[in-house]
Amino acid sequence: TDLTRELRALDAAHFLHPFTDHAALAAKGARVITRAEGIYIWDSEGHRILDGMSGLWCVNAGYGRRELADAAYQQMLRLPFYNTFFQTTTEPPVRLAQRLTELAPPVQGRRFTHVFFTSSGSEANDTNVRLVRRYWDLMGQPQRKVIISRWNAYHGSTVAAASLGGMAAMHAQGDLPIPGIAHIEQPYYWDLRQPGETAEDFGVRAARWLEEKILEVGPDKVAAFIAEPVQGAGGVIIPPETYWPEVQRIVERYGILLIDDEVICAFGRLGHWFAYERFGIRPDLVTFAKGVTSGYVPLGGVLVGERVAKVLVEGGEFTHGYTYSGHPVACAVALANLELMQREALPERVRSDTGPYLAERFATLADHPLVGVTESCGFVAGLILVRDKATLTPFPEDWEVGMLCRQHCFDTGVVMRAVGSRMIIAPPLVMTRADIDTMIGLIRRALDATWDDLRRQG
Ligand code: PLP
Repeated sequence: TDLTRELRALDAAHFLHPFTDHAALAAKGARVITRAEGIYIWDSEGHRILDGMSGLWCVNAGYGRRELADAAYQQMLRLPFYNTFFQTTTEPPVRLAQRLTELAPPVQGRRFTHVFFTSSGSEANDTNVRLVRRYWDLMGQPQRKVIISRWNAYHGSTVAAASLGGMAAMHAQGDLPIPGIAHIEQPYYWDLRQPGETAEDFGVRAARWLEEKILEVGPDKVAAFIAEPVQGAGGVIIPPETYWPEVQRIVERYGILLIDDEVICAFGRLGHWFAYERFGIRPDLVTFAKGVTSGYVPLGGVLVGERVAKVLVEGGEFTHGYTYSGHPVACAVALANLELMQREALPERVRSDTGPYLAERFATLADHPLVGVTESCGFVAGLILVRDKATLTPFPEDWEVGMLCRQHCFDTGVVMRAVGSRMIIAPPLVMTRADIDTMIGLIRRALDATWDDLRRQG
């Protein structure tokens, strides 16, 4: 259509896209998304596509929720902006901070008492870097500067957050990581297991990589460990049940802070308001963004536990903040979103109804000739495309089978993300059982089409 043609031309001429190969984009032309409702998006050619990724893991409440738009509109009329620097405050961030501390269950009797607001997950993790170093300064241990993270982690795109992340392709651009960041391997059983090793044994071994790194760096130099409960952008890497308890033991043994990046995992995604509950993680700091507003407006932040908050509050000025820290419109939308999610019991539904149903239905894809392994946790799931099911032999990387499958998903009418040969989903939490059936049917058709394609190519 004319609109598609016009937008594609303007896009190619002026829009420098995030995480996009512009040559590939120019060859095909960008897909133009024009509207959305419920769990579906529409493109400018009129195709309806089931959004199996909730945008970028964020539209937890689904599209077209009028009350979120109303909350933004009303707040814009009343007070569209005022800052929270220099001893001023406004109502929405105060109410939201209180609400979030209520929703976050205490860990070992210690509560989350404070929230630092940002506009994104990247800024929130940047904040964490400065915040934990500030904490150790105030504690009289300024030599504690090193933050340990994991390879293949994604913690954002700012200089500090990309350094915390463990994406080699990101480090290769821009001379990263910055000093003071160390990495250990991720708990990815299917890639890193030894012959005959059980997932349980692997989980303990993977956690001990943290202890080894702490000893290598020097226990008195380590400030914190940062990790996601389930690694999202890395490919939905669900750790064995033994992993987190052992990490927890190590973190406590050396007294280092634990930063739990829940930008993806919180707000019902894994069946709880915060996923640390699901895995028995006892974090000091929790990064959040995305689902807090269901992606309707940008908002992120750090939930700060009592131990750290007390020191920061008594420690004088923390010289850090953003113009939009505690933006009233973003916080008003977040409050409306949390209310909606609570009314519709979305975390609870994912935990005890639709999550287990998704797990059951997603697992049925394991009989497909292309599928080696299926895994899921709450409303994230992933499958591995393999050349040989029995041995889990992968396809050659340069065949780009994941990208091929992703294209067939689009053409079939469902959004899946490809991470190498892993195909992943993170659908909106409002999905019904019937929606899940529809999605699984579409995924199976896309797998069939991919299979046919590969066979035709020999
Ligand atoms: N942390 C995790 C775990 C993420 O998945 C992301 C984004 O995908 C971020 C941080 C960065 O958040 P943002 O894109 O809002 O800066």
